[in-house]
Amino acid sequence: MGDNSQQFSRAKGVIPGGVNSPVRAFRSVGGTPRFLVGARGPFVTDVEGREYVDLVCSWGPALLGHAHPSVVKAVQDAAARGLSFGASTPAETELAELVRERTTIDGTRLFDRIRMVSTGTEATMTAIRLARGATGRDVIIKFAGHYHGHSDGLLADAGSGVATLGLPGSAGVPAEVAGLTLVLPYNDLDAVRAAFLAHPGRIAGVITEAAGANAGVLAPERGFNRALAALARENGALIIVDEVLTGFRVGPAGWWGLEAARVVPDGAGWTPDLVTFGKVIGGGMPLAAVAGRAEVMDLLAPLGPVYQAGTLSGNPVAVAAGIATLRAADAAVYERVDAAADTVASALTAELSSAGVEHVLSRAGSLFSVAFRPDAVRDYDDARAQEGWRYGPFFSSMLEQGVNLPPSVFEAWFLSAAHDDAALDRILTALPAAARAAAA
Ligand code: PLP
Repeated sequence: MGDNSQQFSRAKGVIPGGVNSPVRAFRSVGGTPRFLVGARGPFVTDVEGREYVDLVCSWGPALLGHAHPSVVKAVQDAAARGLSFGASTPAETELAELVRERTTIDGTRLFDRIRMVSTGTEATMTAIRLARGATGRDVIIKFAGHYHGHSDGLLADAGSGVATLGLPGSAGVPAEVAGLTLVLPYNDLDAVRAAFLAHPGRIAGVITEAAGANAGVLAPERGFNRALAALARENGALIIVDEVLTGFRVGPAGWWGLEAARVVPDGAGWTPDLVTFGKVIGGGMPLAAVAGRAEVMDLLAPLGPVYQAGTLSGNPVAVAAGIATLRAADAAVYERVDAAADTVASALTAELSSAGVEHVLSRAGSLFSVAFRPDAVRDYDDARAQEGWRYGPFFSSMLEQGVNLPPSVFEAWFLSAAHDDAALDRILTALPAAARAAAA
């Protein structure tokens, strides 16, 4: 099969940049991307047969760990019954009901109806179309450093790979389309108020990550989401909460669930008009969803005038993986993931401190990231104002020692319920040398 370098050269001959998603190219950290051939529990294995403790977890989906036996079995069974029908299945309704039950807190439902799609990008794109269809308005507010997938209108000042590559947006997005997106600083309600004043009757919706996690972790300030929802409503706009990354990862009912259940203080007492899910909901298979209040969701075709469709939407194999994942993701799973995050985050900060590296940890539930700056990160400008170059040597040292971190300082670290003591020990053992590399 060749080694990682040979694989990368070969891939570059046929796939742009050798990758099917930009951050995988290691451009901001240097070195050769690992070409993976397997994943099990907390580990991934590359073409050279090297095993790494994985803190990427497929960028979120692998909450239970890789290749969890009950998920693999559900996928095998579903595949044996047929890969894709292009028709409705009982399992889709089962998953829809399961998700709605899980996200009902003290009798308050996060949403009434849910439509399944294949990617988070489609989910947020459909949410925006619904907001425009519901309000008859065209302008959308998003926050700098938030990533909502790669649809035209949502790439301005986006996080994730757009932030990693230092791009203001994307070529190929018509100015007319980009002009309909207002990008505001995160955690800044005054900026939102000012935008509503400046564009009266024009703003269809406000989209926000439930907790920012694509410019590193940027947690919402206390009460921010609730106040944002109130502001949107007062001004006749819809509030769209993007839980593609946080949904079913930071807790059984996502970030909104933590606020509704008062685990996160000062956040209870509101529900979004629309919410998007992805990643964990498909347990590693291509599945995502847009959900919301019945009046808004029933605007979707075939009931209403807002069109949305998909050949593979609600794919039976993906739905089986989603059901098996959510059924296995009980309270004990979240306790394990939270505890593993505590262990790694505190060791990380201790080792960086003892190596004399100025840094701050940002945390939202079990999600965390490091920023090489002295004080807390509140918005995208803060996230960029750091000695980000320290991450490359840190990352490379961890990789050399068998720990696979996200290849960008602008990404969260993901743990799973399969990260047991042995896996955590390997991470803790690798940290001191990596911290020294970051200090150099
Ligand atoms: N929204 C958020 C918050 C995300 O983190 C992502 C992907 O990382 C997306 C949307 C897009 O999802 P997908 O990559 O499945 O299109």
